[in-house]
Amino acid sequence: MVRQPVAEARNGKIRCDACPVMCYIADGRAGACDRYANDGGDLVRVDPFTLLERADGDVVPFLDSSDGDAWDGDILQGTRPFVTAIGAGTTYPDYKPAPFIVSQEHEGVDMVTVVTEGIFSYCGAKVKIDTDRHLGPERAHVRVDGEPVGHVMTGEYGSQMLSLGGVHHLTGGSKKEGRVTCDTLLRLCNREPVEVTIDDGAEVVLQAGRAPIVNGVTESRMRVGCGSATIGMFAKQWVDHVDEVVVVDDHITGVLSEHQAGKLLDVAPTGIKIIGRRSTPGRYFQVAEPGTGWGGTNIDDPLTILGDFKPAVARPGMTMLMVSTTGEQWGYFVLDDDLKPRAAELTPPLRQSVERIAENCEPSVTSVLFMGGAGGSLRAGVTENPVRLTQSVKEAVTYVSCGGTEAYIWPGGGITVMADVQNMPANAFGYVPTPALVAPIEFTMRLADYRNLGGHMDAVQSLEEISDQAERRVKSDATAEWPLDTGHFHWRAR
Ligand code: SF4
Repeated sequence: MVRQPVAEARNGKIRCDACPVMCYIADGRAGACDRYANDGGDLVRVDPFTLLERADGDVVPFLDSSDGDAWDGDILQGTRPFVTAIGAGTTYPDYKPAPFIVSQEHEGVDMVTVVTEGIFSYCGAKVKIDTDRHLGPERAHVRVDGEPVGHVMTGEYGSQMLSLGGVHHLTGGSKKEGRVTCDTLLRLCNREPVEVTIDDGAEVVLQAGRAPIVNGVTESRMRVGCGSATIGMFAKQWVDHVDEVVVVDDHITGVLSEHQAGKLLDVAPTGIKIIGRRSTPGRYFQVAEPGTGWGGTNIDDPLTILGDFKPAVARPGMTMLMVSTTGEQWGYFVLDDDLKPRAAELTPPLRQSVERIAENCEPSVTSVLFMGGAGGSLRAGVTENPVRLTQSVKEAVTYVSCGGTEAYIWPGGGITVMADVQNMPANAFGYVPTPALVAPIEFTMRLADYRNLGGHMDAVQSLEEISDQAERRVKSDATAEWPLDTGHFHWRAR
C-alpha cells in the first residue's frame, strides 16, 4: 500500500493534498474520491500499487496473481517487472516529483520509468460499436441519466462511433452534467456496463469487450461489408443459382445484375427497379431511412425498396435473393405472371451462400479507447522543463504507456494519448470530484536521457526500494508491447 506524506492535520483529521479538493479525512475513513484514506494517521492510497509482469508461453491476459497466488514479497521473482501508475497516487501541485520515479536495468541499459495517476480534465472516451443498426444521427447527444455526456460522430465501416466526455461536458455544463460525465467515463474505462440514450436514436448498453445491447437486443454480428462489397465478395457463388441478388444496406445497396461483378460474370439484366439514388452501376444510396432493420435501414420488408420490374426485360419465373449485410435477414422471391415478386422457399445453394455471409461476419464488440491530454501540468512532475518532455516523446526518446498498455500519441502539439482500456489491468481508472478522471500514465526512457531532460534525479528510486509498496502483480499478454523494449526508442533504431 502506498503511503504519502501528511502535510497537515486538524481536529484528528489529516489533509489529503493529492488533488485540488484537499479533503480532511478522519481515521478509518476515505476521502471524497475513495482513492485515499486515513489509516491510523497515515495517508494511504487505497487501491493496490500494481506491477506488470510479462507472461511467458501462453497468452494470459490480466492474470491478477495477488488474489489466489500469495505474493511472498519478492518483487523480482526471476523476472523484470514494469512499474505501472495504477495505485501509485498523485502529487499535487505538479511541480512536486511524480509519486514514483523508478530506475531499472533492461537489456544492459539503465532505464527509468516515471509514473503518476494523472488527473485529466481534458479527457474522454472514443467508443466503437460494431453494428449496422442506426443508433442515432451524427452530432446527436448521447445521454446518461438525462445528462448529455457526448455525441454521435462519423460512422465507420461496420461500426457506429461515439465521442464521450471531454472538457466541455466535464466543466462547461451544470454540476450534474459534469458529475454524470465523469462517472460515465470512469465506468466505461473500468470496463463496466453503461446504459446510454441517444437523442432521436436508440438505447444502448455499452461495455468494453462485450457485444452492445441495442434497444434490449444483444447485437451478434458485424456486417461482412457494405451492400456493394458483399456483391463483390459473393457474386461468383450466386450466378449459377439465382437471376438477381439485392444486398440491402442503409449506405450502399448492391444489385448483382447491374454491378460490375455481375457484368464480368455475364449476369443478364433483370429489369429490376431500385427506389433510391443511383451512385454507380449496381450501387444505390438512400434506399430507405436509417434504422434498426435490414442492413441498418428502417425496413422489415425488403420489397419496399423495389419499384416495378420493367416488362420489356423481366420475365415470369425469374428468381431473386434479397439479403442483409450480416446475412441475418434474407428473402427468396420468384416473379409471378404479373412480374410481382412472390416469396418462395430458399434453395439449398442459396441458403449456403447466406450462411457464408453470416460466417464471414466478425462478432460484434464494443471498444473503448481512453483519450486524454498529458501535455499540461503533469509534465512538471516528470521534469522541471516540461516542454522537453513533450519534445522527447515526439523524438522517441520517451515511451508513453497507460497502465503498462501501449498509448497512441497523436501527431502535432501536446501529448495527446489514446489507449485501449481492454488492454489495461482491471480498475486502472479513478476520479476526483473536481470532476476529472484519474488515469495511469508512465513515461519510460534511459536514465541518462532523463537527466538531460531536467528530470527529478533526487527522487529516483530503484525497483528494489519500492518493492514493499507494490501489492499487485498482473501478468501481461505476451504479444503486447512491453514498455521497456528498446525497440521503442530512437537510439535503438539507429
Ligand atoms: S478527492 Fe481524493 S485525491 Fe482529492 S483530496 Fe480528496 S481524497 Fe485526496
